[in-house]
Amino acid sequence: MSVRGSVIRKGERYTTMAKYIMAIDAGTTSNRCILFDRDGRICSMAQREFTQYFPKPGWVEHDAEEIWQTVLAACREAMEKTDASAEDIAAIGITNQRETVVVWDRRTGRPICRAIVWQCRRTADEIKALKERYPEAEEMLRRKTGLKLDPYFSGTKLRWILDNIDGAADMARRGELCFGTVDSWLVYRLTNGREHVTDCSNASRTMLYNINTLEWDTELCELLGVPLSMLPEVRPSSYVYGETEKDIFGAPIRISGIAGDQQAALFGQTCFKEGDVKNTYGTGCFMLANTGRRPVFSDHELLTTIAWGIDDKVTYALEGSVYVAGAAIQWLRDELKLVDSAAETEYFASQVKDSNGCYVVPAFTGLGAPYWDAYARGMITGLTRGVNKDHIIRATLESIAYQTHDVLRAMEQDMGSSLKSLRVDGGASKNNLLMQFQADIINKRVQRPECVETTAIGAAYFAGLAVGFWDGMEEIINKQKTDREFTPDMTDADRREKLGGWHRAVSAALGWSESSEQGSV
Ligand code: ADP
Repeated sequence: MSVRGSVIRKGERYTTMAKYIMAIDAGTTSNRCILFDRDGRICSMAQREFTQYFPKPGWVEHDAEEIWQTVLAACREAMEKTDASAEDIAAIGITNQRETVVVWDRRTGRPICRAIVWQCRRTADEIKALKERYPEAEEMLRRKTGLKLDPYFSGTKLRWILDNIDGAADMARRGELCFGTVDSWLVYRLTNGREHVTDCSNASRTMLYNINTLEWDTELCELLGVPLSMLPEVRPSSYVYGETEKDIFGAPIRISGIAGDQQAALFGQTCFKEGDVKNTYGTGCFMLANTGRRPVFSDHELLTTIAWGIDDKVTYALEGSVYVAGAAIQWLRDELKLVDSAAETEYFASQVKDSNGCYVVPAFTGLGAPYWDAYARGMITGLTRGVNKDHIIRATLESIAYQTHDVLRAMEQDMGSSLKSLRVDGGASKNNLLMQFQADIINKRVQRPECVETTAIGAAYFAGLAVGFWDGMEEIINKQKTDREFTPDMTDADRREKLGGWHRAVSAALGWSESSEQGSV
């Protein structure tokens, strides 16, 4: 990671005059802009959805031009809503859907094809072939990048574009193409093509960036056939990357924060110290633990990633995810029709004191960390005549907490230390019953912040720190307000019994679809 130019220039005109930091949250289905004031309060917000393209089963694409236009519209609307001019904005921070690949023509600034989205599985066969051709590739990749050899990450998506878009490989060889994740693309457009940059947290998701040496890795670039000339300069996450073209917002605004969405949420949750951990309860769960200055390589196939870079120092994180969390609540609502809304689950679950021995394992698409079983399938176990609708709803909520428990334990084992508390955010973290059960099952405090826009505020913090809008991380910690803290209130015996039941239920679910493929009964 190169650190050129000034990283922090405090006390400049921007910081004294300006009232806001603008956070651009470039998500998977919509782009949002939020203006935060010095107290970290939301002063204005605007959002634009954009089109999802599914050209074939398992393929997902976005139109990068539409991403740019919707970002621009959201930013302008957020400024108008609070009558803010460019001079009122100290800096811009960007956080983005990670791993999504944009390739554009360096001269025209036009994308040469649609962006390939992180969810897209089109390169599954290439990954399989790569594993067969180079059996050592998986371990090399893990050591260098902290990632798994999987279509999820940017590397093979970029290769796909070079192989399948007319003329792309030749243009790339001649240095005429730029690759970027969505952050790079937005900075390129905001600066009218002057800056082709990214931050180290986004670079660490590409399969091309060495998280030990902090450089693009020539061996990996060769393995995937990616010319180095396509790649953006990698900078810290809190850094003055450049200024917006003056016509865009009426006057130039500095761009001084970039981080991938989950890393920004970790920062937004002020998980600044080694051992701080956050979990985001959305459709799935994303848990990240700050591992400080050292990359921790997992024995449980968790990902090792860069959390952020500030000045010339990099902070690392361990990352684990649960595939089905809030999605299980949607299943209760949409398929089983046991509730009308996700929020109602709290009411029904609180009508019973426990799940009455019932466990729901929502392994609809297999199980991730720490089980890694693609053949696992969903299961409802422990049914007796007395199990009713409320118990099943409760057991479904509890399954989110159990899965989170399992990832957390794997992290603790990898880190060789016990984590103290868990910070939470995301849609399902609003559920108080779930959060209390979470605290009980992990036997740790669970803290929910007042500002649930943790991703956007994380990007704002990175940007604000770089231009002196905030003095330092201490000041930010002091601003952070907790909405509610859940303290564990369950006996050890009870916890052991419940976890024992859960793990027996998981054992029953493992390998389920594999045995059906073999025709066994
Ligand atoms: P995403 O960003 O993945 O779309 P969100 O953070 O918006 O997710 O959270 C939405 C998810 O949270 C949905 O899957 C929904 O079922 C779940 N959810 C929302 N509110 C509640 C609630 N009160 N209790 C349980 N689950 C909830």
